[in-house]
Amino acid sequence: MEEIYLDKNENPFNIPDAIREKFIAYVREADFNRYPEKGLPSLISSLGKFTGLEADNIIAANGSDELLDILIKRANGDIVFSSPTFEMYSFYAKNYGYRSVDVPLKSDFSLDADEILKHKDAKLIVICSPNNPTGNLIDRESIKKVLDSGITTILDNAYYEFSGENYTDLVKKYHNLIILRTFSKAFSMAGMRVGYGMGSADLMADLKKLQAPFYMNIMSAKLAEIMIENYKLVEDNIKYIVNERERVYSELKDITYKSDANFLMLKKDLFDYMAERGIHIRKLPLVKDRSRITIGTREENDRVVSAIKDYMEE
Ligand code: PMP
Repeated sequence: MEEIYLDKNENPFNIPDAIREKFIAYVREADFNRYPEKGLPSLISSLGKFTGLEADNIIAANGSDELLDILIKRANGDIVFSSPTFEMYSFYAKNYGYRSVDVPLKSDFSLDADEILKHKDAKLIVICSPNNPTGNLIDRESIKKVLDSGITTILDNAYYEFSGENYTDLVKKYHNLIILRTFSKAFSMAGMRVGYGMGSADLMADLKKLQAPFYMNIMSAKLAEIMIENYKLVEDNIKYIVNERERVYSELKDITYKSDANFLMLKKDLFDYMAERGIHIRKLPLVKDRSRITIGTREENDRVVSAIKDYMEE
């Protein structure tokens, strides 16, 4: 029985062959003895065009984790977020000795904006949309309500490409907002560590001062650029994954929550049950009786559906 790994919300597909060929051609000629160009202007400019923003509204980083690290360190005070959510927010807060203030999502996983706004001393608010691990988008009006507080707010948009909801228009209106995205999911580049942020020119300039001048290696930067140039191929994979997500959801409606990302949260902790069947999913130690499963290839998803249906019949 082949083991399958559906535990880290990775893309089941490696980078497309045509892109790999272009990347290899680059690697053959690359000047590895030289530092990257300071600030990676070529990558920043290509991200600017890709997102429809100006280059000074963009910051790139060694995975979006690097930006979370910088932003949380810089906050120097209480960090507000809404559980259940991505564990790295409290991880970095703890690393720097700051207080994590948890304002849990409501029972339908919507944001409790009014409760968040009661924490007037917060130095940073983190909203994750689509949220990991619940999979739902956070409603735009409640995000705006939080942004109106003027407190620096991260909108972690790591699963953007699977959701169809674009928040970049908010960047022009709110100087306290930074939207984080990643090449680790839709772009199949988790191993290369590329993320980026979008926000006001002032906030981006501020963050760049806290970042090392050579923050990313030339290969990761180049591959990200080639991916952007060939976005059509990326889109094909996104469509496949979204179709599969809807298919798996419709098969397992009774035991999963609906999702706008590349994973589904299960209404049961099936970690051990699935592991016994060679299917590795994510245990959610902080969320009782739930687990999370990444959407894989059609064949992998078939195995998932059949294992979970067996479970439900038992
Ligand atoms: N934010 C969320 C919500 C995530 O789920 C992840 C990855 N699991 C990240 C950020 C980190 O992404 P990266 O690989 O770019 O560091």
